[in-house]
Amino acid sequence: MSWFLHIDMDAFYASVEVALDPSLKGKPVIVGGRNGRGGRGVVTSASYEARKFGVHSAMPGFQAKKLCPQGIFLPNRRRTYVEFSVKVFAILAQYSPTIHKLSIDEALIDLTGTERLLGPPLKTTDEIIRRIEKELALPSSGGLSTNRVVAKIAATLAKPHGLIYIPAGCEENFLAPQAVEMIPGVGPKTHKTMLQRGIQTIGDLLAQPELAARYLDLGATTKSEQHHDHSVGNETTSIAPLKTIGAMEEVLWDLVEEVGGRLRHAELFARCLTLKIRYSNFQTITRSRTLPSPTCFDKEIFQVVSELLRQNVAQGRAVRLLGVSASALQDSGWQEPLLDRERRNSFERLYKGIDKLREKYGAETIGAATPRKRSS
Ligand SMILES: [Mg+2]
Repeated sequence: MSWFLHIDMDAFYASVEVALDPSLKGKPVIVGGRNGRGGRGVVTSASYEARKFGVHSAMPGFQAKKLCPQGIFLPNRRRTYVEFSVKVFAILAQYSPTIHKLSIDEALIDLTGTERLLGPPLKTTDEIIRRIEKELALPSSGGLSTNRVVAKIAATLAKPHGLIYIPAGCEENFLAPQAVEMIPGVGPKTHKTMLQRGIQTIGDLLAQPELAARYLDLGATTKSEQHHDHSVGNETTSIAPLKTIGAMEEVLWDLVEEVGGRLRHAELFARCLTLKIRYSNFQTITRSRTLPSPTCFDKEIFQVVSELLRQNVAQGRAVRLLGVSASALQDSGWQEPLLDRERRNSFERLYKGIDKLREKYGAETIGAATPRKRSS
């Protein structure tokens, strides 16, 4: 399991000024804007007290002065801020060998594998934020997640002076209601295009897997986990929510055939099967079952995952994503035979034939005796 902590200093330049002159605490401190005279030039940092007046960085100084006449305008002291930045990063470096410096006041700390030495990542995160405050008198915010993009978004939402922790498995539920513009890399132009396509929330984006893959590395995370777990998986998102068990099972069959085909191609058998369901309200669950006898056969896989589906989809509950994965893979399926050897052999012959035909004519050509495409 990977753990990423995104640390972002709050109103960094303004906070450094306050740290150096505690009498400024609680006041509308504005750094930049033409040597502090509030004239030309832009604001580079504004304390949260100044932000209440609508002042923000990159705003012209004269505008900031108009919005907040009582603002304390200070000149930019870049070298001083760099010195503080170095001190912040020196603290971070004590917690992980892998620290990505994203800017003068922002870092991504890879806490993967630090648990044994430092304790749970959440405890480490809390300690880091407290130490930066105690030793440097600087406020910061943190986001902790198994995914780096999620960690970044969490840190932004945690501001000021907060910490948001997204437990493993809750990433998509956390993201779904957030605006797409929260995603790093989605600039104004992309944002506009997305809005034109009806994509307002990250949930809307997740419903379009190809686009989502481009802007969120959730897929990459899943893939790397699958690699570590030695599993084979496939999932699909249906743009229109699936409302009947029949429609869900049709999708399930496609996934099962893909997973089964890949298992057989790799000559592997799975001892564990997992079904992932995302309901139309974006709640996502996974249900796994360990098999008495490992399998690579579509029909056996389908039997298990469709049972899991029926157990977890209440009548009338719509589903927008289904995923099937096979794990605990092994070379042989014969250790504890569920089917007798003869039946297994005939299964094997059947699927060999099917896979050959699929290879030759495409996946759509042939399926095993499946309940799908009854009507269509
Ligand atoms: Mg910052």
